[in-house]
Amino acid sequence: MIKVDKLNFLTPGIPSCAKDYSNAFEKLEELNLDGLEVEFVHGVRYSEKTREMILNRADKLITHHGPYYINLNAKEDEKIEASIKRVLDTARAAKDLGAYSITYHAAFYLGDDPKTVLDRMIERHKIIIDILKEEDNDVWIRPETTGKKTQWGTLDEIIELSKNFSQILPCIDFAHIHARENGKFNTYDEFCYILEHLGNELGEIALNNFHGHVAGIKYTDKGEKNHLIFEESDFNYKDLIKALKKFNIKGALVCESPNIEIDTKILKDYYYSL
Ligand SMILES: [Zn+2]
Repeated sequence: MIKVDKLNFLTPGIPSCAKDYSNAFEKLEELNLDGLEVEFVHGVRYSEKTREMILNRADKLITHHGPYYINLNAKEDEKIEASIKRVLDTARAAKDLGAYSITYHAAFYLGDDPKTVLDRMIERHKIIIDILKEEDNDVWIRPETTGKKTQWGTLDEIIELSKNFSQILPCIDFAHIHARENGKFNTYDEFCYILEHLGNELGEIALNNFHGHVAGIKYTDKGEKNHLIFEESDFNYKDLIKALKKFNIKGALVCESPNIEIDTKILKDYYYSL
């Protein structure tokens, strides 16, 4: 596992001011940002040239976002198998490219009872973890806290899953939690509660090997609608940053606002101004 010694601020994909991976890491350096999340959201594919450019990234940290087309609770066996393969392929890319952690949206309930879905998630992640162990792949595997009420992945569900595996930890998407809970989880005390709960349930390791997402977000009573920039949203990023600093969180924080590097830089600058 890749060790981290600070909170790293990552862009979602290459910065908009970069052409492609050929100058992405140079631009991150100019912006004083720490790395990026490789977006495999439409499939895990990259050319040998991209691979070389990513491997040439000096000291920048990378994480991976797995494909959107994953549902480990699908009704059809083929869809479950394809979903398992997509998580495995993301993890294999992480080993190949030296990524710190991978995240993905694990499943939809499809009307099933949450307890049944949790049991299935444990069973299906066991298949994934057993294969990764055989392949000597110890990258962090992280189902993300999800933003829609139809999606499996509340904070407690992902914590419960993580308790079963030493290689799994939650990816905490603070904007998703805020949207899913109809605007709650937007104050300093609430952010502290999330981090304290994470530490209490999973131990210091979860605070020292963190992977999180944040963004401005638009939501309805069904949860997440779409991402926004901080300026146009109600998301209280300042208090989140204060809480992350208070708990001395180490790991990766990816800012998924649509303006990519601008909001990522706002977060990092605010963190270091405290
Ligand atoms: Zn995501």
